[in-house]
Amino acid sequence: MTKFEEMSLSPEIIRAVADMGFEEATPIQAQSIEVIMSGCDVIGQSQTGTGKTAAFGIACVENIDADDKRLQALILCPTRELAIQVCEEFRRIIKYKDNIKVLPVYGGQPIDRQISVLKRGVQIIIGTPGRVMDHIDRRTIKPETIRMLVLDEADEMLDMGFRDDIETILKKVPEPRQTVLFSATMPDEILELTRKYQNDPTFVKVVQRELTVPNIEQVYYEVSERTKLEALCRVIDVMNPELSLVFCNTKKRVDEIVEQLQGRGYFAEGLHGDLKQAQRDTVMKKFRNRTLEILVATDVAARGIDVFDIDVVFNYDLPQDAEYYVHRIGRTGRAGRSGKAVTFVAGREIYKLRDIARYTKAKIVNQKLPTVADIEQVKTRDFIEEIKATIAEGHLTKYLTMVDELIEEDYATVDIAAALMKMRLYDDKMTEIDFDEPERPSAPRKGKYKDEDMARLFINVGSKHKIRANDIVGALAGETGISGSAIGAIEILDDFTFVDVPKDFVKEILHGMKNKKLKGNKLNVEHAKKRKKK
Ligand code: ADP
Ligand code: MG
Repeated sequence: MTKFEEMSLSPEIIRAVADMGFEEATPIQAQSIEVIMSGCDVIGQSQTGTGKTAAFGIACVENIDADDKRLQALILCPTRELAIQVCEEFRRIIKYKDNIKVLPVYGGQPIDRQISVLKRGVQIIIGTPGRVMDHIDRRTIKPETIRMLVLDEADEMLDMGFRDDIETILKKVPEPRQTVLFSATMPDEILELTRKYQNDPTFVKVVQRELTVPNIEQVYYEVSERTKLEALCRVIDVMNPELSLVFCNTKKRVDEIVEQLQGRGYFAEGLHGDLKQAQRDTVMKKFRNRTLEILVATDVAARGIDVFDIDVVFNYDLPQDAEYYVHRIGRTGRAGRSGKAVTFVAGREIYKLRDIARYTKAKIVNQKLPTVADIEQVKTRDFIEEIKATIAEGHLTKYLTMVDELIEEDYATVDIAAALMKMRLYDDKMTEIDFDEPERPSAPRKGKYKDEDMARLFINVGSKHKIRANDIVGALAGETGISGSAIGAIEILDDFTFVDVPKDFVKEILHGMKNKKLKGNKLNVEHAKKRKKK
């Protein structure tokens, strides 16, 4: 636990950080702020959501010379959305620092307006690579005076194809300069960049093993693929969240679900990598101002969503692994609020969910799907509350006259009221859909399978390829419905591996492992030629 007070920070920053509500530094902050302040080049790596922005933000602001009005620091971010977020964080950090100015610079905003602000002098620019290049070409950003360059979310910038722009910018900012790079992951391409453009960088890496997410109620529903959407809608109806986030595993799936939800009258929209920046902005804006209640997203697109009061996270598709699960559900229950995570599992996925629960030490509770009666009950309760509130509000004279007219025709007040309730609450779409008992296979457990129920498979990778038993279990359990505990003996030889699996799973495994890679090796899985006797 490192307190900001224990670092060599100025009182203005300590105060600003306290205003931001940060009680202590996150590990990446604790390990990198003072290193960056010392002026050396830094590579910082930690997972999403671990406070990388404030890590370089605080250090950057501390090193700005407030008396020098020229541009001193340039922060590059992958998207306009992130540039704005990072800029907001900087504004909070400089709250008590007089005479430090920051400006976000991104595409889509009128360039003239940016130019006029730039002319007045800013010391820190936070921008997207394309627009920054544009300004450098126009000489409205002069790279010569920059002393510190930060590449934020470097992995994402490369993913988005900004490599050339970044390299051009790096070349234009003269040495000596401080180059700082932050990223959640460190693919080779990034290491290449660091070798080329950084001087003897200090590598700060925080491996986060803390996978438990407190304060989030986690439940799951067993469904079949066919009834999943109905199940999602029912749970939404009963929980009635103001803002919810629905995770799917693919872009196609996002589009599908959005269309179906919209068809059923929900305010839902999708967010995924195929959308243009402008479209993403529109969707996020709607979500923020609540004209959108349900945001459907892929894991990658959900990175950088900075909305804090998400009530429920739905795992419409079960995430690929435990870390994704934790990232996803961490979108709710932020800033000390309570949140809820709901996961849908079909068939064998239940075993994978159990693995996730074990790994994250989470208590994920099984729940029964709401019935039509449950939903009616909730709707009725809400409607009755609405009626009471309307009566309390008054201004009913006009409507009382209408009711009086009906009463003169000999209708009873109670009948009129009941008819109105029926008109509002009766929904002919609400027929009892039969959620068949989800077809759950019998639990495969070690020991349950007799020797003759097991088959031996051959896999074309072995210890030469740095394969360990864990990798094999991970690959099989990850790509197919088999649970780790159902996998039998694993024999790893130099060039290949034998693994015993229940015969029931062979077909699925052979199919599921087709074209898959393990540690960069293309896999070939087949029946072992001869059953070796141990
Ligand atoms: P990253 O860039 O690592 O994905 P961010 O910098 O976007 O993470 O931070 C994620 C969230 O955590 C932000 O809302 C930020 O304000 C908050 N945060 C950052 N540092 C701290 C801290 N020391 N204490 C509490 N919250 C923090
Ligand atoms: Mg970040």
